[in-house]
Amino acid sequence: MTQNGTTIAATPFGAAFAGVMAAVAFEGGEWRDAELRPLGPLSLHPGAHALHYGSACFEGLKAHRGVDGAVRTFRADAHVARMRRSAELMSLPVPPEEVLAGMIRDVVAANQAEVPDRPGSLYVRPTLIGTEANIGAAAAPSSSALLYVLCSPVGDYFAGGIRPLRIGIETEQPRTTPHFGMVKSGANYAMALRPTLDAKAALGVDQVLFCPGGEVQETGASNFVLIDDDLLITPALTTSFLHGVTRDSILTIARDLSYRVEERTLTVDELLERCRRRGCEAALSGTAAVLSPVGTLVHAGEPVDVGTGGIGERTMRLRQVLADVQGGVEPDAHGWCEVVAPAPSASS
Ligand SMILES: *Cc1c(COP(=O)(O)O)cnc(C)c1O
Repeated sequence: MTQNGTTIAATPFGAAFAGVMAAVAFEGGEWRDAELRPLGPLSLHPGAHALHYGSACFEGLKAHRGVDGAVRTFRADAHVARMRRSAELMSLPVPPEEVLAGMIRDVVAANQAEVPDRPGSLYVRPTLIGTEANIGAAAAPSSSALLYVLCSPVGDYFAGGIRPLRIGIETEQPRTTPHFGMVKSGANYAMALRPTLDAKAALGVDQVLFCPGGEVQETGASNFVLIDDDLLITPALTTSFLHGVTRDSILTIARDLSYRVEERTLTVDELLERCRRRGCEAALSGTAAVLSPVGTLVHAGEPVDVGTGGIGERTMRLRQVLADVQGGVEPDAHGWCEVVAPAPSASS
């Protein structure tokens, strides 16, 4: 595991893959039998619907090796439900809950030897693509699809040192179209890429916080939370941004720790006003980065420190509690973890 950990730390997040994938086809109006197979290229017609008309969506969740050695997925049910919602909104065949949940369980168990120790984990990537070979189907859904699940052993996102992020505030361009933000699709990422690259080049920022009309939504790939002493504020759920499972987990943990949690409209004006207070912190939430501290916001070309501009203590504490639930250190009070592979000693 130590050797595994060393290799992972040197590999960029998501660029290493475990040896087994799961896959199932939807053809002739029905889902075939899901199978496990060695990781390898897909055979896809060059006229496949996903390649031309963007019929694709995905998920991202993690499996963790606990301190007891057992491997547990984290909130797989919430990710399955969200993928079904994404598929529905993308007009793709909706995978049955038990099919996708079973594939996740089976592929993680098959790759259990490749699950790194804490703080590493196995990142799990279910992917659904429209496969119908028909370049005339621009205004029609794909009649066939492929659902597959990849696994990627990942190290700590902060390997090499955690640092406060610098985030650009964008008040004009939205991340994506307002009715489509809650879909986890590559199309949304494609739309956010150009403004993000432009802001990185012009302002030296790490990410862009999209706030069309002066109201905070999210960054290109993470939800946003503001922590002002014992008050946690985050935008209320709308169709315009992704409903993060990490966001929900952090809000739940914050409530457990007696924070006041407000899900409501957060304007850029209020955000900047609160940032002047020393006790103010901000963070980005998502499966990959867990909870990442934001040190500076760049608004209208001017940098504004969030509180002290450093790494927030409350942010790190919330992050630690979440990691400890995932790693089996803290009790799983909300039933978020599911053991998919027992500790090696228990199985031998
Ligand atoms: C996946 C994603 C998130 C984070 O969601 P989690 O369920 O917490 O991983 C946030 N924003 C966007 C745009 C995403 O695609």
